[in-house]
Amino acid sequence: MPPVERLVAAELGGALPSAIDPFALSLNENPFPPLPAVRSALIRSIDAANRYPEFLPERLRSLIACHIGMPAEQVVLGAGATGVVMHALRAFTAPGDAIVMAEPTFDGYPIVAQMARLTLVTVPLDPRGHNDFDGLADAATNARVVVVCRPHNPTGTLEPAGEVLRFLRRVPRDAVVLLDEAYIEFAAPEHWIDVSALLAQFPNVVVVRTFSKAYGLAGLRIGYGLATAELARTLWAQQLPFGMASTALLAVAASYEAEDQLLQRIRLITAERCYLRMCLSAMGTYTTDAHANFMYLPSRGRLWREVFADTGLQVRCYPDGGARITVGSRASTLAVLSAVGQVR
Ligand code: PMP
Repeated sequence: MPPVERLVAAELGGALPSAIDPFALSLNENPFPPLPAVRSALIRSIDAANRYPEFLPERLRSLIACHIGMPAEQVVLGAGATGVVMHALRAFTAPGDAIVMAEPTFDGYPIVAQMARLTLVTVPLDPRGHNDFDGLADAATNARVVVVCRPHNPTGTLEPAGEVLRFLRRVPRDAVVLLDEAYIEFAAPEHWIDVSALLAQFPNVVVVRTFSKAYGLAGLRIGYGLATAELARTLWAQQLPFGMASTALLAVAASYEAEDQLLQRIRLITAERCYLRMCLSAMGTYTTDAHANFMYLPSRGRLWREVFADTGLQVRCYPDGGARITVGSRASTLAVLSAVGQVR
């Protein structure tokens, strides 16, 4: 077989990861495969794969705006939350500018900071995995961008809304704050911040969200940002022509239609998170107070990497010995408990 045909044959056979893999717990993916209605919409969208999507994704923008009750001019889109963040760095920074973030944080942030040739300033989390808002605000004085993840990745912790507002009051208005809400749908509604009111008070904030987590569409790369009309105009200018695949619009529309089923899935995941945390705690293993679809086991003298090494479980291990574990099915939970149980 010629090399290209061999490559194509290999790809057709092995390009897709398994949708249901109780051991895939390292990327904070949703453990459920697409809902039937979303699957049908995706299949429909593929029938027109020979056609370009919209030049600029205006319809997806309006759909999301309508769903969350904000004007379309305040919504921007990207290839996942990562794409939106990249647009923001392109729009608001110049090489050499400082970007401030917690350490550890979502792995993508140091990567995009480097791509934008920014100077990285990190502020350690406190021992319980919370953001050090005083440290971040101090560092923001000389920075162009400050990143706050709420809930935080990898610890899942979530600072109270009042503390976020106190922090934002301390950040200079010429620094852009990326408030990353990639996991907000997993947090209890009392923790959600009213974005319109927030942006009216703090016009230097860009809220970043994604369909990769609670909506379970990580493979489709759909993210959005919310900002004042003025900042959103600058961000929208970064939108790539034909940059959002046609699958995005149909999958988001079908997901909104099936919101009840998605909410039920979110409830199942958060209930599983509580169960796993409770069992680990009963076994004497501390986890941070996580409000997302994962939890964090700080090292506390143990190298979790070694504990999970020969278990077949893929979890995200950190250099200091800590580990982040995505919440999956009950089978995943039992596998994690069994691994941790071995080392007691
Ligand atoms: N922000 C945070 C905090 C994340 O954990 C992730 C993904 N792990 C992202 C953003 C990026 O998500 P995506 O680009 O898939 O939307």
